[in-house]
Amino acid sequence: MANEQEQKNNFFGVKDLSHKTLLQSDALYQYILKTSVYPREHECLKELREMTEKHPRNLMATPPDEGQLLSMLVKLINAKNTLEIGVYTGYSLLSTALALPADGKILALDMNREYYELGLPIIEKAGVIDKIDFREGPALPFLDELLQDENNKGKFDFVFVDADKNNYLNYHKRVIELVKVGGLIGYDNTLWAGSVVAPPDAPMMDYIKPLRSYVMELNKYLAQDSRIEICQLPVGDGVTLCRRIF
Ligand code: SAM
Ligand code: CA
Repeated sequence: MANEQEQKNNFFGVKDLSHKTLLQSDALYQYILKTSVYPREHECLKELREMTEKHPRNLMATPPDEGQLLSMLVKLINAKNTLEIGVYTGYSLLSTALALPADGKILALDMNREYYELGLPIIEKAGVIDKIDFREGPALPFLDELLQDENNKGKFDFVFVDADKNNYLNYHKRVIELVKVGGLIGYDNTLWAGSVVAPPDAPMMDYIKPLRSYVMELNKYLAQDSRIEICQLPVGDGVTLCRRIF
């Protein structure tokens, strides 16, 4: 019989990271990974992904096809200054860092430095550590502090939000001022394991249920926010891109 820790792991861990998709056909997803993602995945990203796969909370990791999307976006918009909220072992962070120019910078926030330190040796090996300014602590008060300085308003070209889902609307209120007009915000997990369309009494994994209403509330809010254009993509667990228009 599974002990308590093993049962807990089942809520946060998956067998490996090659099955993190909402795509209904696993064969199609494997095709995407094998044809377009793995052959182009940077060797350090591969190492980080394989290391993270062994971690009991690996369900939190960004899947490699989404990492590829982030990299493409960062390059398309010529981002130089980025902000990431929710680092874990650093797959999205390293994807972004590798995509940024040599003088690019990422301000990376996470309340858990231990997770970040698991990926740190690999990030260092990738040669991008100089681009990263990691800050440990709860993100909201840190963002409030950033906003005290007028120079930080409109400073970021790209923001990736992938932390506590119950705070996404609070993050949006702040991040919309920190991103520049014409800049991009990505909110991750906006389809929340597909639960956004499930009846409220449907069986759901323990971590899904309590946060589902926050994700739905965010989706509704973003859809009516006239300061942004949006595009919700069914990549990974759903990612909503928001382009600030004023
Ligand atoms: N983007 C990461 C990746 O590519 O693997 C995954 C991030 S994981 C889904 C969420 C992270 O948010 C965790 O590392 C957790 O410690 C962090 N987190 C949760 N609540 C937070 C908060 N209030 N402030 C800062 N970080 C938080
Ligand atoms: Ca995520």
